[in-house]
Amino acid sequence: MKDLALLLIDPQIDFHEGGSLAVPGANADAERLATWIDRVYPAKVYVSLDTHSTHDIAHPKAWLGTDGGTPEPFSTISAEDVRSGKWAFQGLYKEKVGIPFLGSQQRTQTRAVRYLEALEDRGHSHTIWPPHCVKHSEGHAIVPVLREALEMLDWGTGSVEYIYKGENPFREEFSVFESLDGHETNPELAWELRSFDRAYIAGQALSHCVAESCRYLMRLGPVDTFTLLTDATSPVPGFEGAAEEFLKEWVAAGGQVQKTTG
Ligand SMILES: [Zn+2]
Repeated sequence: MKDLALLLIDPQIDFHEGGSLAVPGANADAERLATWIDRVYPAKVYVSLDTHSTHDIAHPKAWLGTDGGTPEPFSTISAEDVRSGKWAFQGLYKEKVGIPFLGSQQRTQTRAVRYLEALEDRGHSHTIWPPHCVKHSEGHAIVPVLREALEMLDWGTGSVEYIYKGENPFREEFSVFESLDGHETNPELAWELRSFDRAYIAGQALSHCVAESCRYLMRLGPVDTFTLLTDATSPVPGFEGAAEEFLKEWVAAGGQVQKTTG
């Protein structure tokens, strides 16, 4: 019998219809994946959980504009925007609480500028998201249909492992393996996944956290033992083209694609 694993990316309420950063199609993806888990019964499931504070660098409340407002969800902030004073990082928090978030306000600004420059060097822009997956909030929890499937699988076997990502409020972590500015957070997990006869990948969102996790695996080496379950993952609205581009990269690198019914 083959040793099968599943890497399940961010199967949380906030990324499903009704959540704060809903991915259209995610509920149906979750239903199909739960059926697949019940049928295939993988030996091990690694579940990543996107986990933020309200004042995460990718949430509106981390920023204070010159007009006293916060940035709109889905807008972007550049290093130049912070250098020029258009946006102040953690300004709102400081104003409300009366103390700097961490260190002096100047140091915090400098840190934000350095981070945004590092992102830009890697070809990324910094997107502000609707507040999502705030730790201990309802939206942070796993969507019920998958939670139940995982509980059944885990019962008596301990074969489900949960990995928190995104807890550092100073940097974005789409990938379960590294931050968007290139700091490895979980290299050992990638090697562990490669030790299985086959590792399946599913979850949300195809255009962001799934794509960036897969890109790390592609940089690490051959991906022919990995299979993306294409009907158990969907893109963030407006990023459908980015998801298509990623799928082409994945297939060209030798990554397998399959439906949950395959
Ligand atoms: Zn997030």
